[in-house]
Amino acid sequence: EENYDLIIVGAGPIGLACAIEAKRNNLSYLIIEKGALTNSLYNYPLYMTFFSIAERLEIGEIPFNCISPKPGRQEALEYYRNIHKYFNFNLHLYEEVLDITKNDKAEFDIKTNKNNYSSKNVVLATGFYDIPNMMNIKGEDLPKVHHYYKEAHPYSFQNVVVVGANNSSVDAALECYRKGANVTMIIRGEGFTKNLKYWVRPDIENRIAEGSIKAYFNSTITSINEESVSVKTPNEELEIENDTVLALTGYHPNFDFLQKLGITLSNDALKTPNYNTTTMETNVNGLYLAGVVCGGMLTNIWFIENSRVHAKQIVEAILAKQNAN
Ligand code: FAD
Repeated sequence: EENYDLIIVGAGPIGLACAIEAKRNNLSYLIIEKGALTNSLYNYPLYMTFFSIAERLEIGEIPFNCISPKPGRQEALEYYRNIHKYFNFNLHLYEEVLDITKNDKAEFDIKTNKNNYSSKNVVLATGFYDIPNMMNIKGEDLPKVHHYYKEAHPYSFQNVVVVGANNSSVDAALECYRKGANVTMIIRGEGFTKNLKYWVRPDIENRIAEGSIKAYFNSTITSINEESVSVKTPNEELEIENDTVLALTGYHPNFDFLQKLGITLSNDALKTPNYNTTTMETNVNGLYLAGVVCGGMLTNIWFIENSRVHAKQIVEAILAKQNAN
C-alpha cells in the first residue's frame, strides 16, 4: 500500500493548487480525480466565458496567457492542462475516492474504486458541480429535462423552459433565444439573483421587456409532462407547450460524503462544513477542505480567485504540524 504525506481528492483548479504547494514544499502527495482533469470545467457550457479575468484564475503564480481579458472554457482547459504538463503531478484520473477512514496509526486509509492508499493528511477539493439541486416534481426524470446546459443548437426552433434566476439560467436563456429557441423562464422569486453579472442584467431585462424572452416571476414549475409543463403563477395555473426543460437550479457539495468522513455541518439550511478558516482543517484531525466545497449550500461565496489561497494555508498548517512533532 502506498503511503503519502498528503492525498488530494479532486483535480479541479484548487486541488491542483494544493498539489503545487505540496510539491514545492517536498511533501509526498497524490491527486485522485474521479473524472477528467478539471472535470467541472470540462462540464461547463461549451461557449461560456469566465466572469474572472485570466490572471485571477492563475494558480502557482504561473501566467495564464489569454488575448481577451476573460478566458472561455477551452482556454481555461488549455491553461490547467499546461499546469499539469509543467508540474507533472502525481495524478490519477478516472479514479473515485469512495471512503476515507482513520487507521490505528491515526493516519488515513483511502479506498478508491481501483486501489487503497494511506496518507497522513487528506485534502477534499471536491467542489459542488456533480450534484444538481433537484426540483422534486413529477416528470423531472423525463429525458427532456437537463440539469446541465452545454450549448443552444439542439434547442433551436424548440419550446424551451429555463428554470432558475441565476447566471447559468440567464446565460442559457439568452444563448438559446439567440439561436432561435422560443424561451420561457420560470423564476421562483420576484427577480434575478443579486449576483447576476452586472453586464448581463440589461441584456436579459431588455429581452424580457420587449417580449423576446417570456418570464414568469414568483412562479414555480409544478410538473413536467411529455409535451408541456405546468406552472403556478401568482394569478393562474398555466400549461405551457414544451419540448425541453433546462433546470438550472444550482448544485451542491456531496454532503453525504463529507458527513460519512466525520465532518460536521451547520444545523441550518446552509450546511456549512466545520473547518478552521486559518488552517482549513476540519473537525477531523488531518482532514482539510479546499475550494468551493467549503461554502456548503452557498456555492457562490467561493470561487477560484478567492479560494486558490487555501492551498498555501493548508500546506503551511501541515508543515507546522510536522515541525511540532
Ligand atoms: P471543482 O473544479 O469543482 O473540482 C472538484 C473536483 O473534484 C472535480 O473534478 C470532481 O470530479 C472531483 N471529485 C469530486 N468528488 C470526488 C471523489 N469522491 N473522488 C475523486 N474526485 C472527486 N469561478 C471563478 O473563479 N471564476 C469564474 O469565472 C467562474 N465561472 C464559473 C462558471 C460556471 C458555469 C460554474 C459552474 C462555475 C464557475 N466558477 C467560477 C466557479 C468554479 O466552478 C469554481 O470556482 C472552481 O471550479 C472551483 O474549483 P474547485 O477545485 O474547488 O472545485
